[in-house]
Amino acid sequence: MRHFFRPDVADLVALTRRARWLLTFRLLLAVAPMLSWQAMPSARSGELIDVQAAVGAYLVLVLIFEQVRRFGRTATLWVIAVAMLLDGAFLAWCFRLLGGVQGPLVHVLVLYTLAITLLASFRSGIKTTTWNSLMLLTVLVADVDGTLGRSLLGSAFPRAQFTVLLAAMWTTTFTTAAFAAVNERELRRRRYDMQVLRGFAVAMEDCWDTSEIMTGLAKVTTVELLARRALVVIEGVPGATSRAAAGKGAVWYSTTSEQACTTDACPWPPGSIIEEAIASGKTQLLEYVEADADAWLSAHMPEAREVVLIPLARESRVRGVLVFEHAGRGVLSRLFTPGIERRMVSTAEQAAAHAALAISRAALLLQTRSAAETDALTGLANRGTFDTVLAREIQGNLVNGFGCAVALIDLDHFKMVNDTYGHQVGDAVLIALANCLRTTSRRNDLPARYGGEEFAVIMPAVSAVEALRFAERLRAAVESMDSPVCVTASIGVAIASESASTPVDLLAEADAALYEAKGAGRNRVVAKDARAESAL
Ligand code: GH3
Ligand code: MG
Ligand code: MG
Repeated sequence: MRHFFRPDVADLVALTRRARWLLTFRLLLAVAPMLSWQAMPSARSGELIDVQAAVGAYLVLVLIFEQVRRFGRTATLWVIAVAMLLDGAFLAWCFRLLGGVQGPLVHVLVLYTLAITLLASFRSGIKTTTWNSLMLLTVLVADVDGTLGRSLLGSAFPRAQFTVLLAAMWTTTFTTAAFAAVNERELRRRRYDMQVLRGFAVAMEDCWDTSEIMTGLAKVTTVELLARRALVVIEGVPGATSRAAAGKGAVWYSTTSEQACTTDACPWPPGSIIEEAIASGKTQLLEYVEADADAWLSAHMPEAREVVLIPLARESRVRGVLVFEHAGRGVLSRLFTPGIERRMVSTAEQAAAHAALAISRAALLLQTRSAAETDALTGLANRGTFDTVLAREIQGNLVNGFGCAVALIDLDHFKMVNDTYGHQVGDAVLIALANCLRTTSRRNDLPARYGGEEFAVIMPAVSAVEALRFAERLRAAVESMDSPVCVTASIGVAIASESASTPVDLLAEADAALYEAKGAGRNRVVAKDARAESAL
């Protein structure tokens, strides 16, 4: 999947196309001397035969080269090089037949220089013009001194006109090459942007952390696209399971502070620039960010000028925006930074789309994980998580010499609540109990739904007395909790010891204690540790 780009194939296609253009151009070149002969005022039939012979020989060789080109890439490269030498010889020969520096072929020579520099390359243009200059000089000298037989161009070497012709050919070569270089630079930059995007997309494939993705997007914008500052912000909490939590808060990364931050409440007011950009789903360009328009953004990008806001993705669940500043307010910065280019914005847009995809994938993973670990009704840890954490905590606490307690909580006569008020009210009571467990538990405790209307709390690093005090506090809290129906709970507590050092043993002890609490009249706490109970 990663090897989708094959530069050799891309070059091969370009080479074949270039060779085809050169063939068309040579066919036109073969016609040029014939037309030039027509245009000559002193056209003589003797010279026409010579011109026709030269054109015929040239065409035969061009067609032979065309056949050789079919042998592949190396053959094509050779054909292009040798054909250019042939062109030079052909043009120089026709130049002699068609009146030399005074003949119409001088225009064809300049045009040829222009076309070759454009179709081949800057270096090929210089090489061809050098070769053609030499061929013309040789033919001209040989004609003037009679080496080629009868002199067609007179006995004096036309120094001035020949110098003008060479100047025209070389000026054409250099100016064409200079213009082509500007285009080539643009192409190179586009290719570089593509490489940057490809690298970013590959990096995003393995990235599952929202902060890391945001950091990556901000960095690619500043380091590769040369923005001065960048800020990536996501509205809501990625991966939040409840709709309410997803709608609140924000996560952002700014290259100014170089850290990822999170807030529980959305930091910008309704109608701010960020919100507008997210809602419109369109890239926005701003000359300044005024504090009145968006106090939060202007605080994170003070004095920003030429600001681009790119929504991360319109259709995706991710509501966020990439903000970057193109140039600062300083005079030097204004003088030396060119305006925002379309190329830069579109590359940033594509990078933002990659990041949005990665963020929604990471959020989905978080959601799936949290759904697998929590109970759907109450949002507490489910039985699977409870078992995993209990095994880990018992082992860790025993090794470090601490106790690890477990409390099993069972609602009293809950069946009656269901029978009297219906299951929906019963569910509401269970949710109220879960909230009560959450608020009563300490920071390191793990409240969980053990099954049905039974709940459990893991209490790491506690003594038997502390565990029992906690259970008693919990029992009292259930009695007075905000619930549609007043309920009570019986609680069984057990603490890991040498005799109960596995989750199964510990839970069996807690269950036996719970059974005892039910038997003793309900709404009470029983511990499997006599010392703890006496301490209460
Ligand atoms: P005890 O004091 O002896 O515990 O009496 P109890 O009525 O609570 O007896 P038991 O524990 O056997 O009853 C459990 C009831 O909890 C039975 C079942 O209908 C109810 N229950 C279990 N899970 C759910 C649930 O998800 N929602 C609701 N509404 N009720 C549930
Ligand atoms: Mg029960
Ligand atoms: Mg019960």
